[in-house]
Amino acid sequence: MHPTTAPAGCHWDGSPRTARPQRPLRVTATSPSRLLRTGQSSRCRQCGHRIDRYQRSGQQPIVLHPTELDTSQVPAPYRWHLSGGIAHPHSDGSAWCRIPHHALCPEHAPTTPPGPYIESLRRQLAVRTRRLIDTGQFTPTPTACETDSRPSRDCPARPVVQLLLGRYLADGPLEAIQCVAQTRQRHRCAQTVLDPSRPRGAWTLLPATPQRGQLVLPATLMAVYDLSRLPYAEQLRWRTQRCPAHAATPDAADLTPAGWQVFDPLLHTAHLHTRLPHVPFTQREEA
Ligand SMILES: [Zn+2]
Ligand SMILES: [Zn+2]
Repeated sequence: MHPTTAPAGCHWDGSPRTARPQRPLRVTATSPSRLLRTGQSSRCRQCGHRIDRYQRSGQQPIVLHPTELDTSQVPAPYRWHLSGGIAHPHSDGSAWCRIPHHALCPEHAPTTPPGPYIESLRRQLAVRTRRLIDTGQFTPTPTACETDSRPSRDCPARPVVQLLLGRYLADGPLEAIQCVAQTRQRHRCAQTVLDPSRPRGAWTLLPATPQRGQLVLPATLMAVYDLSRLPYAEQLRWRTQRCPAHAATPDAADLTPAGWQVFDPLLHTAHLHTRLPHVPFTQREEA
């Protein structure tokens, strides 16, 4: 036998050698969520299990368990379904539904008994979390108050921040607010918005003035992290939730929406703190 040379443009067996066109990853103009799906999976910081983040219409994103469950076994209040990348409460009538992660997270105590099926799943996840911790594959992240010896009333787990002429409720402790930009490796940037090289805001007590209607709250002062004296670009960096590096590269896509909620003193009374948190002297802003 003589080795035969495949003609140019063909494989050794004669099948055509086709070059796949490069397909850049981009968001469809009609996509309701406007986010790259690839960036919305992560692991729960409390239990180590995989979670998927989905947007909801008009509300903060919700974290769902990554697999579908038998709808008939899931109590109605726990049923969710996805449509066009958006999560909707209740089932869509199919045999399978999604379920919020907090219903299954072993580190999250349910407020009402979730039923035998979800209880058994919670136990399975708890056993797996214990195994991950015991084998050193996972270390739970303590919440802000656990890392701090201060009384809980001094420890705003979700601080209120004043910037760009508005007040916003953060979705986590100040020092844990994470950049939302996508890195070149297509992961969410691990840097925080609070950066020691940038000017800091200052904790201050400001009136908790209601911002809607004629309702009058008792005159109270609330602790606010005030960024309003910082340059406009710096306030915008906080509002868009980007680290200094990604604030300088606006072309980088966001992997998740910024976690701010417009602060409403009537809706968010649980996050209204009347005392200033203790700030170490070395971290105080120079007057
Ligand atoms: Zn969890
Ligand atoms: Zn970043």
